[in-house]
Amino acid sequence: MNSLLLAGGRVIDPANHFDATADVLIVDGKVAAIGLDAAAKAPAEIERMDVKGLVVCPGLIDLHVHLREPGQGAKETIATGTAAAARGGFTTVVCMPNTSPAIDNPGTVALIDELAAEHGVVNVLVAGAITKNIAGEELAPIGSLKKAGVVAITDDGHCVQNHELMRRALEYARMFDLPIMDHCQDYSLVTDGVMHEGYWSMALGLRGWPAAGEEMIVARNILLAELTGAHVHCQHLSTAGSVQLLREAKKRGLPVSGEACPHHFTLTDAAVAGSEKFWSADGKGVFGFDASSQERPCWPAYDTNLKMNPPLRSARDREAIMEGLADGTLEILCSDHAPHCDYEKEVEFDYAPFGLTGLETELALSLMQLYHTKRLGLADLIAKFTVAPARLLRLAKGTLSVGADADVTVLDPNRDWVFDKATSASKSSNSPFYGWPLKGKAVATIVAGNKAWIEQTELAGV
Ligand SMILES: [Zn+2]
Repeated sequence: MNSLLLAGGRVIDPANHFDATADVLIVDGKVAAIGLDAAAKAPAEIERMDVKGLVVCPGLIDLHVHLREPGQGAKETIATGTAAAARGGFTTVVCMPNTSPAIDNPGTVALIDELAAEHGVVNVLVAGAITKNIAGEELAPIGSLKKAGVVAITDDGHCVQNHELMRRALEYARMFDLPIMDHCQDYSLVTDGVMHEGYWSMALGLRGWPAAGEEMIVARNILLAELTGAHVHCQHLSTAGSVQLLREAKKRGLPVSGEACPHHFTLTDAAVAGSEKFWSADGKGVFGFDASSQERPCWPAYDTNLKMNPPLRSARDREAIMEGLADGTLEILCSDHAPHCDYEKEVEFDYAPFGLTGLETELALSLMQLYHTKRLGLADLIAKFTVAPARLLRLAKGTLSVGADADVTVLDPNRDWVFDKATSASKSSNSPFYGWPLKGKAVATIVAGNKAWIEQTELAGV
């Protein structure tokens, strides 16, 4: 069943510096051969998929996803979240531990493994909590979590404020050879801010979330990485200052890394003032739109789908994130897929929860803002979704090396499509990108040789 020949595609495997037209032979869920002679090695009866004109790459990995189980199944489940991941081209996702209860003990990790084995259509890896109940007061049993199979620890959604506690967490993480990831937010600076602190927060009368509220913790993490020698990964970085801090720390050889999400390098805080304001200010030229474009996407002011944590920043911050991705300061792309129910988002901006869905749009937005604008080559962009997260999490994935798990994504970087609520697989619909004309799409997602998702119009019956 899980044997397949992908014939005639452009195979891009950044881990092996491979970029050429080739066949990919999958036998029994593993990559068996790659090259123009791969077809000759295939069993006669093997299923063949013609992928001429398409890109074949290692299955994409998203290391920052909220699947909401256990306890928040009204927002998303492992079934719906992994279905959305498959549609987006992702073969592996890492679920965040801020569930109910939090993933802060081996029992909850085992529960997720069970649910994922039964309902997941892509690989689900688990991030454990740094502190018990993500309360920031007492360390979680980090050794037991590692034994239970977590691939990293983070208090994502929250941030450990006590620096001494964070230092101990780093020391344990290092001892157990477990990556530690941090949602960087200084509570005393951010207080109850709901959007980026700047011109637009003033104009809209919303409480500000200053850039320094993120940078303070990025700087803290860099200092603690230097003190302990432990690697710290900074999650969803959103400000120019964070990128600069990370760039300088890396220059000094410190063990730090960072990730960026498409919403932060596509939109800005002006979007919270409504589409007219956005397209005539920071949005000018983004995806070829401006205030006079007929087909430009429209949305009202105070749209709560534009409320996320960290918030949309200024145009200067957006540019700095893209520069950081281009020069390698930020090595990983991810979604921070954060589903919420309609009734939770259909309230005043102040009261809405933070977050937007992203699994189904992150590849397109990244291709549009980074590849189609020539900021990043295709192989470099794919590396940020494959080999880079695999390296951070020490996964034997993110590559098409012979013998590797046959997790493969087939994508068309030039495909025009529109993100439609009716065809979305996520249980939630808190995305600001419905109705947007997008460019670039996964057309087949293959997990261990099995088709987790196929764009029916494209490859059916081949
Ligand atoms: Zn977060």
